[in-house]
Amino acid sequence: MKRILALIPAFAVLFALPLPAQQSSPPLRAGAATSVITPPLGESIVGGFTPFPAEHIHDELHARCLVLDDGKTKVALVVCDLLGMHRSLAVEAKSLIEKELSIPPSHVVISATHTHSATNALYGEVRTYSSDIELTDYQHFVARRIADGVRRALNLLRPAEIAFGHIDVPDHVFNRRWFLKEGTMPQNPFGKSDEKVKMNPGAGGDNLIEPAGPIDPRVSFVVLREPGGPIISLYSAYSLHYVGGVGQAHVSADYFGYYSKAVERILSSEKQDPPIVAMMANGTSGDINNINFREPRLRKQPYEQMQLVADDLAAKVTGAVSSLEWKASAPLDARFRELDVKWRTIPDELMKWARETEADAPRIGDKAVLPLAYAGRVQRLAQASPETKLPVQVLRIGEICIGTSPCETFAETGMEFRDRSPFAESFMVELVGGYYGYMPTPRHFELGGYETWPGTNNLEPQASVKLMDALLEMATEVKTVE
Ligand SMILES: [Zn+2]
Repeated sequence: MKRILALIPAFAVLFALPLPAQQSSPPLRAGAATSVITPPLGESIVGGFTPFPAEHIHDELHARCLVLDDGKTKVALVVCDLLGMHRSLAVEAKSLIEKELSIPPSHVVISATHTHSATNALYGEVRTYSSDIELTDYQHFVARRIADGVRRALNLLRPAEIAFGHIDVPDHVFNRRWFLKEGTMPQNPFGKSDEKVKMNPGAGGDNLIEPAGPIDPRVSFVVLREPGGPIISLYSAYSLHYVGGVGQAHVSADYFGYYSKAVERILSSEKQDPPIVAMMANGTSGDINNINFREPRLRKQPYEQMQLVADDLAAKVTGAVSSLEWKASAPLDARFRELDVKWRTIPDELMKWARETEADAPRIGDKAVLPLAYAGRVQRLAQASPETKLPVQVLRIGEICIGTSPCETFAETGMEFRDRSPFAESFMVELVGGYYGYMPTPRHFELGGYETWPGTNNLEPQASVKLMDALLEMATEVKTVE
């Protein structure tokens, strides 16, 4: 008995010993999956001014999902083959994810690629300017499929290493806003020809002076692999609006889909299961497209140009993967805000123009399509609900910072965030968590052109400045908190 008692202090010492030292940063885990979000035929393709019903599926649309877990925090990145998504769709998908998977909405980044061959998910049955709408059946379906994709990615979480890279591919991006020679500026739909900049001027025209803004040639990418083993996922962003050139009334994921497939094909090991999931989010491409305006445009077969762009980007990005530096951990963090940004105000004079244009439409005939479209948009914008609840997010993945915008954001905004962010490596993804039209910088409002027209731009001219301030504040917060 005495001997047993004598053992007690020894036990006590044993229990008092500190626990084995915890690893300073727990190992990272990653999982990825895709959900098909192809719409039923007959749904409206809404990339142009006049919607038309989808008649054929050229390639399936997907929500491509990646989940990361650092042991404490989980984040989800989702890229959807959509022109855009209404805020209410993103809210619904995030609330399903929170309820069913316990990942908070602030930690879920859902973006649209901006393929112009997808059907309507960016407004409800009618086009209004409201941050909250009743979802259509298709929007409900997409939200459900996003949540299911994130759940499947979560099911597939496994130990992972992470690497970040970027390459410059200037070949496929062109600024589409041009200064024109004096006297050659056409009238805008509002009947004015006093603007300084023209969007998409005729390619190879002799009235072109120079583009009104820069291009951002950078492809940024994050890669996950099983430790020393197969690639799990590659998430990338490039500032290219879309490519286009599809068959008549086709549904297609555009170059974003071709690129993802090409990356998966190149990086996949034989019979890899679960399969790699690659995705291309849209960077900040509101003023950037794939048309080289300095030369006349050549006619191409449907899908030819987007395949060319996708294959080249996939070859260059995958070519850079072998020289990346891999890490076994990456602290994760996120911030989310709804900004108090105002809808654009519609002056009385513009309302008068809108009413007169509608009354005058039968007389103008064919030429009334654009003015009529804007007359409708201007009047609906004037009735916009007071709050935009503009969703803005920042995601920290190790030493990388991703900032988001819910607008068609200009290239210079993305480059400014990269330059001013407290992280060595940052990039922006646009069309995240909602759709609020174009977001020119204040300088571009002075120049005018399509992207600045009320109804193409829906927010106050200071919106890009408010966005940048919020992004930089949130980036500083996630930088300093360990
Ligand atoms: Zn667009």
